[in-house]
Amino acid sequence: MSSKRRIRRKSCTGKRRFITWEAAIAAIRSLVRARGPQGPLNAYRCQFCNGFHFGHAPGAGRLFPRF
Ligand SMILES: [Zn+2]
Repeated sequence: MSSKRRIRRKSCTGKRRFITWEAAIAAIRSLVRARGPQGPLNAYRCQFCNGFHFGHAPGAGRLFPRF
């Protein structure tokens, strides 16, 4: 392996930050209410700012059953 840096820069700039995971989930819910289903969204903890963000979950379609 080469000495490639695995540390990413703070990629959370420009994203909404939430203090709690629940707040991020609430934001997802309000977004879905306002604009309809956005596909699988997931809230996750950010290692850079120690806050929470939400975005599209990797492996889309596995978290929710299909109809
Ligand atoms: Zn962040």
